[in-house]
Amino acid sequence: MKDVSLSQSLLLRTHMKRAMSVVIAMSLAVGASACLAQAQLSAQFFGVSTVSVSDGEHTVMTDGFFSRPDYLRLVLGVSPNESRINRALAAGKITSLDALLVVHSHHDHAMDAGVVAKKTGAIVIGTRSVANIAVGSGLPANRTKTVVGGETIELGKFKVHIISSPHSAKPVFPGEITSPLKTPSGIVKYKEGGNFSYLIEHPQGRVLVHASANYRPGMYSGIRADVVFLGIGLLGKQSDAFIRDYWQEVVQTTGAKIVVPVHWDDFTVSLDRPLRPTGPLFDKVKEALAAIGELAAADGVEVRMLSQFQAVQMPAPR
Ligand SMILES: [Zn+2]
Repeated sequence: MKDVSLSQSLLLRTHMKRAMSVVIAMSLAVGASACLAQAQLSAQFFGVSTVSVSDGEHTVMTDGFFSRPDYLRLVLGVSPNESRINRALAAGKITSLDALLVVHSHHDHAMDAGVVAKKTGAIVIGTRSVANIAVGSGLPANRTKTVVGGETIELGKFKVHIISSPHSAKPVFPGEITSPLKTPSGIVKYKEGGNFSYLIEHPQGRVLVHASANYRPGMYSGIRADVVFLGIGLLGKQSDAFIRDYWQEVVQTTGAKIVVPVHWDDFTVSLDRPLRPTGPLFDKVKEALAAIGELAAADGVEVRMLSQFQAVQMPAPR
């Protein structure tokens, strides 16, 4: 989250083409893996750090952020956009969800959770602040589950491990949301409330969604993952040493062989349009992707860039 203005938004667009060409260059052939085969575990991307993981019977989703309000709305106040939510769920062929796993309560993760839960039957899992956003959207409190980190929740064949994880450096809007949040609401009211990563374990594979580009040393010791959805927001502004340590803590330690960068896209752009990288006024996406690409090549890890609604199929069970 950053402060923005309309003039900055225009400037941002002038840099769009150059940044996008980097993303395209980094893209691998995802088409073949993008179709959802039934009963095979797959993880589908929806921009920022919204990822659904499904075995064809049960589906869990991180965040569920689809409204993606533009800069004007960020200034005037945001509220869930039902038509955008409906279109995104339809495009992703999401008809029901067992759980929404919300990483933290900034608007670009949590603002739609209550509305998406009402539409899909999900329970909302997250901090007390996340629960207050969902309840403010009219979700009954008993459809929320407040967690503090360290819990494991079983849903069908899924075991969801909730892991305390620091927000990326210099987080904005610290603090907690202590009562149900009514909308429209200024984005400053979407206080961070604490951050989680989610390890989504299934007999067919393990998906780690680590949305915020920061780490606690040793946080994944003894934990394995097949695929990491790796937050790179603001990572390009960090030192080479930080990026190396981040890679080591989150990717090397878990042994993941596929890394899908997330939180690189401009979250003010509707999902009706192609994702584009956050502009250089706010982030250094190109630099982050270049650094990740080098580390991945050295480790024999595949970096896969996904567009909205594309999916990764899990590697064959071991
Ligand atoms: Zn945040």
